[in-house]
Amino acid sequence: MGSRRRRVAIVGGGISGLTAGFYLQREFEVTIFEKEKWGGKAFTRRVGEYLFEEGVNGFLNNTPETLQLCEDVGVEPIPANENSKKRFIYDSSQRRLFRLPGSPKEFLTSPILSFWGKLRVAGEIFIPKNCKDETIEEFSRRRLGEEFTRRFITPMVAGIYGATPAQLSVSNAFPRIKEVECQYGSLIKGMMKLGRGGAPKGELHSFPRGVSQLIEGIISKTSGNFVLKEIKELEELKEFDEVILATPAYATAQILKSYPRLNQLLNSIKYNPIGVVGLDYREIQPEGFGILTTDSPTLGILMDKYIFPHRNGIRVMVGGGRFPEIAQKSLEEVIEMGEKGVAEITGATSPKIRWGILHKKGIPIYGLHHRELVAQIEEEALKIGVHLLGNWKGGVSLNDCVRNGKRLAEKLIAQARKGGR
Ligand SMILES: Cc1cc2nc3c(=O)[nH]c(=O)nc-3n(C[C@H](O)[C@H](O)[C@H](O)COP(=O)(O)OP(=O)(O)OC[C@H]3O[C@@H](n4cnc5c(N)ncnc54)[C@H](O)[C@@H]3O)c2cc1C
Repeated sequence: MGSRRRRVAIVGGGISGLTAGFYLQREFEVTIFEKEKWGGKAFTRRVGEYLFEEGVNGFLNNTPETLQLCEDVGVEPIPANENSKKRFIYDSSQRRLFRLPGSPKEFLTSPILSFWGKLRVAGEIFIPKNCKDETIEEFSRRRLGEEFTRRFITPMVAGIYGATPAQLSVSNAFPRIKEVECQYGSLIKGMMKLGRGGAPKGELHSFPRGVSQLIEGIISKTSGNFVLKEIKELEELKEFDEVILATPAYATAQILKSYPRLNQLLNSIKYNPIGVVGLDYREIQPEGFGILTTDSPTLGILMDKYIFPHRNGIRVMVGGGRFPEIAQKSLEEVIEMGEKGVAEITGATSPKIRWGILHKKGIPIYGLHHRELVAQIEEEALKIGVHLLGNWKGGVSLNDCVRNGKRLAEKLIAQARKGGR
């Protein structure tokens, strides 16, 4: 019949928006608006001979959608080095470094917990289950005890979300863990049944030239209009048949400012600030994935040069929910904090390179009632016919963003083929 192709506008050129755009081109004429830089938090910065990731370090190869996307755009992921299986925890108040045990057997002999701390963990099987949502801190203290929470859970939460365990809801941030508790009555019992307690399987991967290689691959294989422009309000997109806002919640709120309810709901999703500091030293130990900390403004050190080939520096994550004041610091102060953190934890000083970026609103906080909040936002967005994407709903990882972007594209394609919205 020669009818014109339907037109979709995507606001936000991060991994969420780009994935949706790539798959939507099969059925739609795609226009993607980006205000700053393609890739958003998935961006690899070249600084002289160094490659520093501004955000995404890598992804686990356990999500078929990401592996499919890599294949579809012709980029091949590379696995992390063997060395990266070695992970460390630094107890900031005791100034002690511990190697993270890699198996239950290693856990039993590791000095990372006292005898009583280990006994308390073993006692987890006797703790009654509670299927109601609670903060990760409440959950972990209740089930696993104080010591385990401090030495394992607090560093892990900082490493994944840049948050404190008190900020996050266990059902929203780690839904599988709560499901295991509910289904098996105990994490240990669940672990014995499932092998790994439902912990995500998969090996860490990235790309030879960093995560930007995936972004460039997607862009090169998407026939669409790529427009470097900040969208200020929805009105600007009225000529499009479909609109996807793949922006952070606060930016989506701003674009939808003429819808007070949506604006208010979206603004109630808060973010933790996070500084990323790139450094390199003549010598730095330990050779491994990196070091997470228990309670310092230095959340952790990623030993990039020991994790992936083609990397030569290290990165330090600072601030997060432990030190939100970082949002008010200058970039130089952020870099100094990173340097001090490395000196305290590893003893290394006088870096050969110094680089940094401050994400004032870095990672969304999946707090208590997050899911209900997102459901209300979706309901309101449906009323005005706008589709929402982004790492503030459905998970923060690159894998989550790819999965959600692809799913939305498939849904819109199916609707378009049926001839409806
Ligand atoms: C320090 C750090 C480390 C991380 N490490 C990992 C990791 O190792 N593994 C992992 O899986 N995940 C990691 N993440 C999480 C992951 O990076 C993000 O969740 C993901 O990249 C977010 O993608 P997104 O497209 O949803 O949002 P974003 O990347 O934030 O993209 C949104 C885009 O929208 C644009 N935009 C905003 N407003 C407008 C507007 N009005 N008009 C036009 N454009 C606009 C922005 O400029 C941005 O480019 C990390 C995050 C951070 C901050």
